[in-house]
Amino acid sequence: MIKLTKRQEEILQIVKKEGPISGKEIADKLSLKRATLRPDLAILTMAGNLEARTKVGYTYKEGASAVPFMTISEQFVREYKGHPVVVRNSSSVYDAIVQIFLKDVGAIYVVNDDNHLVGVISRKDLLRASMGTQDLRDIPVNVIMTRMPNIITIKLEDTLHTAAKRMIEHHIDSLPVVQEINKVSHTYKVVGRITKTTIAKAYMELSKCYTV
Ligand code: ADP
Repeated sequence: MIKLTKRQEEILQIVKKEGPISGKEIADKLSLKRATLRPDLAILTMAGNLEARTKVGYTYKEGASAVPFMTISEQFVREYKGHPVVVRNSSSVYDAIVQIFLKDVGAIYVVNDDNHLVGVISRKDLLRASMGTQDLRDIPVNVIMTRMPNIITIKLEDTLHTAAKRMIEHHIDSLPVVQEINKVSHTYKVVGRITKTTIAKAYMELSKCYTV
């Protein structure tokens, strides 16, 4: 037997009573972020309990019974991406360390003056740089970063499955989500990030609806 989570039941009750209603309005009623509700809304829509219409919102559909089996292969980066933390290539290693702590992330992305992705710096890169004797304020990030064209990226239209596979294959913890500007010259704009935690959270959200 397949059972909906408490939150999914709450969403259905809200839409039943107040639909058509936007995802943002549902999130506000539950005092949650829109992004937190995305997997639930995706599941309920796929299952046929809700109908999603652009510019109208969600409406309740009678008669839907079961939740179909959903995996991360059916979930898209666009829906799950987080905010990227970005620094300029003229920033120092010291600045990068401050940003890593302030924004509570494991890696930051380096952009040039045109805001195009030129590098990635992770915790290990920063630790390596801090083993030397040079003042970290005097080392620019572009000396220690992993640079283009060696950066492994992911696109909005890719699936979480592709993202997970890419991180495992390349032994890295995160991927910048990019929009391609020019493939030949490796010019990309950073629009988000996907981490191993993103994948773990999506997995937990998706598996909740199979709990009996
Ligand atoms: P940590 O250093 O916290 O263990 P990672 O395992 O992600 O983080 O990073 C390991 C190495 O891989 C670092 O040198 C980093 O610059 C590089 N790296 C991290 N993310 C990427 C990426 N998306 N593409 C290419 N290299 C990356």
